[in-house]
Parts: sequence; C-alpha cells; structure tokens
Amino acid sequence: MRKNIVAGNWKMNKTFQQAEELVAEVKDLMEEHEIKHTEVIVIPPFPYLEMATDLAQGSPLKVGAQNVSDHDYGAYTGEISAPMLASMEVNYCIVGHSERRKYFREKSKALAEKVKQLLNAGITPIFCCGEDLEKREKGQQEKVVERQISKALFELEPDDFSRMVIAYEPVWAIGTGKNATPEQAQEMHAFIRKIIEGKYGKDISENISILYGGSCNAKNAKSLFKNPDVDGGLIGGASLNAEEFLKVIRGIPA
Ligand code: PEP
Repeated sequence: MRKNIVAGNWKMNKTFQQAEELVAEVKDLMEEHEIKHTEVIVIPPFPYLEMATDLAQGSPLKVGAQNVSDHDYGAYTGEISAPMLASMEVNYCIVGHSERRKYFREKSKALAEKVKQLLNAGITPIFCCGEDLEKREKGQQEKVVERQISKALFELEPDDFSRMVIAYEPVWAIGTGKNATPEQAQEMHAFIRKIIEGKYGKDISENISILYGGSCNAKNAKSLFKNPDVDGGLIGGASLNAEEFLKVIRGIPA
C-alpha cells in the first residue's frame, strides 16, 4: 500500500539543544493536529539520532539518518553502519542525496551497497535521484533519472525493491527557492513509476512511494502533493521550523 510520507532532512544544521526542541515541537504538533494518515520523519545529524528516537518513542513520529556506510563494520574511521543505525531504532535512511553525490563523489556502485546494507538491517532507504540544470535544459532529465535508478537499484530482488522509497529531487530546485512546477513533478514521478513498472511490474510500481524534493515549502506543498504520482516530500529548509514543517505536512490531501 502506497504511503504518504513527509520527511525533513535537516542536513548539517542545529545544535543539540535546538534539535531536541525541534523534535519535541514536531511530535507535539503532530499530536495536536492529529496527523495520522501521513508518515512523518525527522532526519537529524548522526549525533542526535538517539535523542530523536528516544523522544519519538510511543508516538507515530519516525526517525531517519542522512547517510550510511557501504560496509557493515570494521576499520572505516568516521563511518556509521546500517546495523548501528538499526540498533538505535532508526527507521529510514537517505541514500544518494545530490549533496553527497557532488561533495563526496558518491557513485552508483557504492549507493547500491548502501541500499543493500540498509535493507539487510531492516531500515527503509529513501533513494534520491534527479537531474542538474544543464541536463534539464538539454531535456535529458528522464535519461539521467532512469540511469541513476537502474544502476543503483535494479539488481535488487522484487521483494527488496518493494521496500524502497524514491525521492525525485531535481538538483536545480534543491535549496534554490525554485521548485519544480506541479506539472514537472507529476511528469517525472509518472516516468519513474513507468520505469519501475517495466522492471518490477505494476503491483510494485503502484505501491511504491515517490516523494518530491526541492524547495518544497508551506506555500507550494499542496499544489505539488495533489498530483496522483506525488506521495509526499523530502523537505530541507522548510523542515527546520516546526510550524512551517507542519504546514508542509498538512499539504497532503486529506
Ligand atoms: C533536500 O535537501 O533534500 C531538499 C529538498 O532541500 P530544500 O527543501 O531546502 O530544497
């Protein structure tokens, strides 16, 4: 069954105390506004995960990580593995965010490994894909996204693939204040669903959640989320304030 999901990627923001306050505020607002039909996820920096999972306990709020190692344990100084995340009751993890692809040169082979590590540990990967401005201007957005998805994910068995969440995040929209139009988002999400159907069949493609990310905020969330193939959002800047994040969450059709 396709889930509506709104996930807040905090990136490298907030002190521990600010993070604690924000998790508590999101949790309280969810309760106050009876947010039940949307899976809400906070994705703070690594050192705050345990605090977040502790605070989220007993509430519907879920917690995600921003990255994971492609190894399960060993001499990889500075890395965090999927079994470690699972032992802190982390539910989701972003894989292949464009910032990691760009600044940390993450490539499809390593991303495929990260996805496998997460699935083995029982954590849901949120796999990011999306074209940069140059490719969009050349009309090559479908080619880019098809390659990113097929290279990193199409070795998965159908049962494993069905546990994925996909986030379409055009790079030109991330942190720029220039979101994709609802039409552009719908077109790309329908395309992603089509290539998934080609590989794994209609049942899996119809049931997988595909999120939109890129300057999605309180003002534009509703028009983006009302599209039939947009199942929610991966939210950066607008997730750093609880009231604004709540407005984004409430953009999901009732
Ligand atoms: C992101 O980092 O995934 C993102 C979508 O950021 P923003 O909402 O700030 O564009």
